[in-house]
Amino acid sequence: MAEPIRQLIRLLIRVGPERPEIIDVDAVSGIAPQPDPPPQPGSRAFWIGITEPGAEPVFQRLAALRRHEETFEKGSWSNATSTRDNLVEIELPWSGDPEATLLVVIGTGEGQPESTAVSIASLGLLDPLRIPYLSQFTLLAEREIQYPRTDLNLTDNGKAVMLAFLPDGFVEAEFAAFHRIVADFIDQLRRTAPFDRYRDAIDAVMIDVPSAKSGIHDPLKLDADVDPWFGSGMGTGNMRRLIVAEHADRAISVARAAIGKARRIQCLIVANTSDYGGSGGTVAVFSGHSDSGQIAIHELGHSMFKLADEYSDDGNPFDANPAEPNVSAEPVPGGGWTAEDRGRLKWNRLLTPDIQLPTPPSAGPAVIGAFEGAKSRPEGLFRPTLDCKMRALTKPFCPVCSAAIAAALDPYLP
Ligand SMILES: [Zn+2]
Repeated sequence: MAEPIRQLIRLLIRVGPERPEIIDVDAVSGIAPQPDPPPQPGSRAFWIGITEPGAEPVFQRLAALRRHEETFEKGSWSNATSTRDNLVEIELPWSGDPEATLLVVIGTGEGQPESTAVSIASLGLLDPLRIPYLSQFTLLAEREIQYPRTDLNLTDNGKAVMLAFLPDGFVEAEFAAFHRIVADFIDQLRRTAPFDRYRDAIDAVMIDVPSAKSGIHDPLKLDADVDPWFGSGMGTGNMRRLIVAEHADRAISVARAAIGKARRIQCLIVANTSDYGGSGGTVAVFSGHSDSGQIAIHELGHSMFKLADEYSDDGNPFDANPAEPNVSAEPVPGGGWTAEDRGRLKWNRLLTPDIQLPTPPSAGPAVIGAFEGAKSRPEGLFRPTLDCKMRALTKPFCPVCSAAIAAALDPYLP
């Protein structure tokens, strides 16, 4: 699943019959939202944008985001009051610059819009603990809190990588469910090649961080009263299965404080929903869906081993020079696949001399070649085998991905 690709600013705005009032600003990471179509004449809506000082707005959009369209499709401001105490949450791209100016424009569709420009820093609403560039303050704050922890003691190897599992959207009464999800994941991980050969390179701990309320953010359940501590939410970037934890920096701080600086730590957030989904950024996220263990192993491929997705769903921009070891662009675009070209394939050393390149799907699952379609693109990017866990959850890792995982875990064996 895709990684968060840009920083966003999230605004909480109280709407009413007069003008919107910004009551909270928060910096998050996530998928960039799609721009909305311009408002129709005669409609009553407001726009909101980010603009650099003395410049044109770099971003402006209608407030009726898809995420809240139910609220706004009803029409007027007064109808918008029925949801979440008049509160509307909006995500905008943001460079991270606190001097950037926030431009709030109220447009009626008739006549001149009113606008209100305020600098983000001057709002007085920024919580420095939640801003990534001030994350050192987060570290200081989290260090004071000692959460209950359960060490799984999978190995007595003191240099094993520590998987730190953190619950999100779980209240204390639900921690048993969180622990069961983790136990199931560990069981599946240790039976999955090549992890089965690296049991002594991996240890795990569960850190019981409670959320104030049960559940995670979900655009289909806007009325749900949730408050996940790590900010997990479904449907990032309008992709339902993409569950991103907006406060992943908190997870890293909590784990670092609990485990110490000496160990290699990989955080995994378990989001409290039975819906299918997850994401793999610096911190892997997965849900309590029955396939959650396989989701988490796939996401670890991203988070820990820097592997790319091998599926091709047209969801990402084309990457002509992918960094991941399991995806290769065409050696010479449109230039055919000469013997010299094949030397440029990243997994060239694994190819047999007689393999056809590119490799047709009819070659079957046992062949290492160059199968077209990878990293969310159907054309121009190639994967080593017909199937792999980075393409389909039920499949084993391909030899290229397995080798990357093995190389990364080797140094952590006793
Ligand atoms: Zn693979």
